[in-house]
Amino acid sequence: MKALSEPLQPKAPTPTEPPPVALFERALRPEGTIVSVQGLEIGGHGIVVMAGPCAVESEEQILTTAHAVQAAGAHILRGGAFKPRTSPYNFRGLKEEGLTLLAEARKQTRLPVVSEVMDARHLEAVAAYVDILQIGSRNMQNFTLLDEVGLCRKPVLLKRGMSATIEEFLYAAEYILSKGNANVMLCERGIRTFEPSTRNTLDLNAVPMLKRRSHLPVIVDPSHGTGHAWMVPALARAAVAVGADGLLVEVHADPSHALSDGSQSLDPPSFRSMMDALEPVARAVGRTISVAPVPVYG
Ligand code: PEP
Ligand code: MN
Repeated sequence: MKALSEPLQPKAPTPTEPPPVALFERALRPEGTIVSVQGLEIGGHGIVVMAGPCAVESEEQILTTAHAVQAAGAHILRGGAFKPRTSPYNFRGLKEEGLTLLAEARKQTRLPVVSEVMDARHLEAVAAYVDILQIGSRNMQNFTLLDEVGLCRKPVLLKRGMSATIEEFLYAAEYILSKGNANVMLCERGIRTFEPSTRNTLDLNAVPMLKRRSHLPVIVDPSHGTGHAWMVPALARAAVAVGADGLLVEVHADPSHALSDGSQSLDPPSFRSMMDALEPVARAVGRTISVAPVPVYG
């Protein structure tokens, strides 16, 4: 028989000591964090626009869209190669081929690229091609993935879980920060509510709340936040007015034929007019739309 003083279970590993103040807290860096992406500053005075298709579909599609968003003043090209889809029978992305097509678009336009990494097993491949790693809404609390992106030094765009509270969102960012990656951006992309007329409810409350709680840059995605292309320009203006540091917008050269999220994707002319209407709103709140520097690739 075991002596009563002997523990029945092996001792649980001691969790790492939490810092006195969470690393995301504004108090640690009252002036705010600036994430630098190939010489482009995110979180400073200039507002940064990331735009492109939901998914990379073909060489022609990504190149046409990349040149169109660049001509309209976008700073970063988005495009999913690994796509999380509701049904496994939907188009799930071109995977590695999609990454090589993004690399070609980056080479031609010199726009830095952001693309989603869905699984820790793909991290090395995705990180080799992109300038910003996107963590999707469905993976906001994939703690293994958060730990892994925390160990690399690439900038990360962390999207809010569709049912995540602001506290949960901030502590998901803490996973990445606590592993040593300080280049984290928070992306509000809409939350699930009882309202069925929009895909999600874009929680613009989150923007000033996140800016107050945290020093990290805040990006708003009005495309997933509404699900309707016609609503995107209005919500993009609202996001800038409420203090967002940047926008993530879906743009497709031919939205009616898009393989994913066509109904929320702007066509190039609508994207251009959205961009034109942002500048006066930015000015009204003491900001400006960033002037894209020529990226310096290392
Ligand atoms: C996306 O950006 O295309 C995407 C899948 O977004 P979310 O993870 O916010 O649904
Ligand atoms: Mn999408």
